[in-house]
Amino acid sequence: MRPYDPRKTMLYRQQLQDRRRALARDYWKEREASLAYVQVNPEDEIDMAVRTHTRDCFVTFSEIERNQLFLIDEALRRLDEGTWGICAACGRGIPEQRLDAIPWARTCYGCQVQREAEDGDQVFKAVA
Ligand SMILES: [Zn+2]
Repeated sequence: MRPYDPRKTMLYRQQLQDRRRALARDYWKEREASLAYVQVNPEDEIDMAVRTHTRDCFVTFSEIERNQLFLIDEALRRLDEGTWGICAACGRGIPEQRLDAIPWARTCYGCQVQREAEDGDQVFKAVA
């Protein structure tokens, strides 16, 4: 496929990092709130410890935001590896229009639709 203009990928990287920073800020705010809750309610400590091993750890931080944080990290890694902008399912280039709207997109639109039809992953659908 045609490689992406490095000046453009720099802008996408900037976008991803800005979004990541904003999400991470919320994430730590929620985490602090959760820890404060444990200190106030020590009898819930065991329950909270169990939760840290699950994706339910930070109850008020939405699943969608956490998933998006994960996808953004992945996208930044792909930018480093030079595989960013290539559909993870079919290997073709993801159209720029889609990347402009969703710089952390893993797949092209066609593969995305197919994937949703197959597994009906609501969270994935919501963020990518
Ligand atoms: Zn594809």
